[in-house]
Amino acid sequence: MTSFDPRAALDGLYDEYSRRANAIRHDLGLQRSADFAEQAGERQNDEVLNALLVEAEAGLRLVGLARLRLADGSYGTCQRCGEMIEPARLQALPAAEFCLACADRAPL
Ligand SMILES: [Zn+2]
Repeated sequence: MTSFDPRAALDGLYDEYSRRANAIRHDLGLQRSADFAEQAGERQNDEVLNALLVEAEAGLRLVGLARLRLADGSYGTCQRCGEMIEPARLQALPAAEFCLACADRAPL
């Protein structure tokens, strides 16, 4: 197993969420059609896009918090019980705030 670089992983994750959020904002900003029936369909589509945008922004927030923990040395420590977060879990979810046991107990 290659060594895990949380900083690079968080950077990659941040870029991914940023790209996604920007693409969604772009789609939401596209010109509305004048046709009423089409507008109704667009509104539904907007709801889906807004939900995806909220998700991407929540991801950006989590990555930001993980970067702060990296800076203050608490990265990789469960924010609830204070135990180390499993390395495999951090590799899969670099912005994870909780260890597996705590995340299982209270899913976010
Ligand atoms: Zn924990």
